Amino acid sequence: MAEIKILMAKENVKNSHQIDVALANGAYSNLEKAFKMKSVEITEEVKKSGLRGRGGAGFPAGIKWSFMPTGDRKKKPNYVVINADESEPGTFKDRWILERDPHLLIEGIVITSYAVESNTAYVYIRGEYVKQAKILQKAIDEAYEKGFLGKNILGSGFDLELTLHRGAGAYVCGEETALLESLEGKRGYPRIKPPYFPAAIGLFHCPTLVNNVETISNVPWILENGGEEFAKIGKPNNTGTKLLCVSGHVNFPGVYEVPLGINLLTLLETYCGGIRSRNKLKAVIPGGSSMPVLKAEECNVEMDFDSLKKAGTGLGSGAVIVMDETTCMVDVSLNLLKFYAHESCGQCTPCREGMPWMKRMVQRIKDGNGRPEDIPLILNVADYVGGDIDFSRGKLGKTICALGEAGSWPTIALLNKFREEFEYFCNNGKSMINRDKSIKTPENAVPEVVAT
Ligand code: SF4
Repeated sequence: MAEIKILMAKENVKNSHQIDVALANGAYSNLEKAFKMKSVEITEEVKKSGLRGRGGAGFPAGIKWSFMPTGDRKKKPNYVVINADESEPGTFKDRWILERDPHLLIEGIVITSYAVESNTAYVYIRGEYVKQAKILQKAIDEAYEKGFLGKNILGSGFDLELTLHRGAGAYVCGEETALLESLEGKRGYPRIKPPYFPAAIGLFHCPTLVNNVETISNVPWILENGGEEFAKIGKPNNTGTKLLCVSGHVNFPGVYEVPLGINLLTLLETYCGGIRSRNKLKAVIPGGSSMPVLKAEECNVEMDFDSLKKAGTGLGSGAVIVMDETTCMVDVSLNLLKFYAHESCGQCTPCREGMPWMKRMVQRIKDGNGRPEDIPLILNVADYVGGDIDFSRGKLGKTICALGEAGSWPTIALLNKFREEFEYFCNNGKSMINRDKSIKTPENAVPEVVAT
């Protein structure tokens, strides 16, 4: 199956991050068209495209833009903030854009800022992305030199100042309100919503549009080809392509641009070369570490927002983490809980206390000292921290931000779907998973599945 290239169109272009190369390949060609349009017309085009946010929540971008006060409704400065704090474990798709096509992102930022009548934009990039920050800063400098940023861009009368801001390495700053706090120079504590919805009370208490790198990088293509063309890609309500970053036990991990709705097994078999060492697939986390795991027999599913939600998980950040039959799910659970316990900002008691408590219990199991009663207790704590795993019942978390759910959902799913592994560990003091794939016991054998 041929990949559709909107975001990775310059995949095979050498030095595509340099402005001369980018210009030779069409960068910034949509700015003049944008400046001839009314800002509201651009927002309408994005609405028509059906583009949904690519950062994790999947909220329709055009509708989000329309929340920004423009024209007579605008009373304060508007801000645009690009979330490049790509910190969800398993996620490295924005990194591809930042490294390989930063001018695509900058072009998208200029068009977006014009559409929402903002003259100031920021890119908030995660602290660990040192190389990517250097590349992006150089691209921003080049764009200023060529007149694509700054005063009176291309003689349009539109001004835009774009600043790159580096975070300090806190996962929670990927949450949009924590990001804004951090950008204001404060500790990255998430704000309570309501009232702090960024479109109303955002950066410096002004209306702010926060969008992800991948989301905004789609905007030039939408303007060039029209929202309706974009909407023809993928599936209804799940339009366009998606960058999926595949890691784990596949032969060819990497970033793939695919139409939304691709079958997960097709992705693994056709794009990623199948499971390593001819092992059997055991499980996949389809949307970054905070999403509930799918067992192998549940992986015959379409990769889009709605299908994955129906399957009891989520597309999240598009990070596909693949695990083969040699993976111990107690290890997986401990690994995730160590991360979330460490990254809790400590503002709310259920998250601050619950994450380390769950981590300690899973660690005890891993150390061979687990008690059978630990399993229901972990589930009970997870329920108090992050709420019920049934997405259809809505957000049931008891915490200020979604980190409570991010640590609880995968924990609940792992314990419910691979309970026998946790019980075996508690009863025998060791893992039931034989890491030598040549020796398969009835317990660790998993069924083979194929895409239909
Ligand atoms: Fe902080 Fe956790 Fe509460 Fe989010 S859920 S605000 S990370 S304590």
